[in-house]
Amino acid sequence: MAQYFLSSEIFRGSSYGSGHPLDIPRVWPVMDLTRHFGWLSDNQFLSVLPASEEELSLFHTEAYISALKDAEAEQALSGARKVRHNIGQSGNPIYPDIFSRPATAAKASIVGAEMLAWGKATRIFNPSGGTHHGQSDRAFGFCFVNDPVLGILTLLKNGAKRIAYVDIDAHHGDGVQDALSHMPELRIFSVHEADRWPRTGERDDKGAGFARNYLLQRGAGDRELLTIIVNEIVTALKSFKPEVIVLQAGADGLADDPQSGLLFSVNGYWKAVETILQFGAPTMVLGGGGYNPVTIARAWTGVWGLMNNFDPYGKLLDNWSSELLRGLHFPHRLGRDMPNRWFTHLADED
Ligand SMILES: [Zn+2]
Repeated sequence: MAQYFLSSEIFRGSSYGSGHPLDIPRVWPVMDLTRHFGWLSDNQFLSVLPASEEELSLFHTEAYISALKDAEAEQALSGARKVRHNIGQSGNPIYPDIFSRPATAAKASIVGAEMLAWGKATRIFNPSGGTHHGQSDRAFGFCFVNDPVLGILTLLKNGAKRIAYVDIDAHHGDGVQDALSHMPELRIFSVHEADRWPRTGERDDKGAGFARNYLLQRGAGDRELLTIIVNEIVTALKSFKPEVIVLQAGADGLADDPQSGLLFSVNGYWKAVETILQFGAPTMVLGGGGYNPVTIARAWTGVWGLMNNFDPYGKLLDNWSSELLRGLHFPHRLGRDMPNRWFTHLADED
């Protein structure tokens, strides 16, 4: 087994700007907590630089990549380019790292895909990735670059023949479905909340052929999630026999997350991730949605623990860890009165 955590210090301090749901820390707390627990050794952490324009052009258009670079350099964009590429509007703000940050997240998925394809790793973690709404020529749903698509295209380029994409984010993985569901080498599974933005991915929607969508009703919890994972998705994986799995592990379906009506516990979310890992194929786990920084830090720290066969379920938080969590910037109203239970255990209490 060889597990690697791919990331960058660019995620420490970068933000979409005040008032945006992503004006919260999401990646560095996971880096710091996993190190503090002794779950992440120095040689497992690989720091990556932003993907090049050529690497991004595996999926994205040149005009769009140039628009992102110009927006970063000038911190502005002309009206026509804003509209065409959906930048600086619709929740996709122009912010200081608007090119470099998503390009770095994309690079981690590209490098991770290469390492899996070349047999240099069995498990890759890219918590900055999972930006599954991104489109080839425009930003969508807070996603500027579609790193899951770039990762999957990199796997194909390097000889993978059967790839499964499993997406447990509360929102439909529409960008991945639209880009790739015509490819017989792939199976694309998305579990998401019904009647939730972007309101695609209905139960009978197979995209261009190879997508499968599973709906959870508002209020659904661990039991409903795990029923779909075990009865539907694992069953389908057994017959498809993927050589490699890309798991988008968005954490916005957790009960303490402000952006969905789903009620997963951290424990149930981990069981879902663990079930996919236990399928036994080389797996790249990506982040995704998640809008409560305390919940994300606990959930994704535990995911890395599971990927390395540490037990997150019984993990107690010491003073250092709970202080780190208490100090996370969380401007949402939930952040004004945070319950003590978020700071005692990595898991949720049963
Ligand atoms: Zn989401």
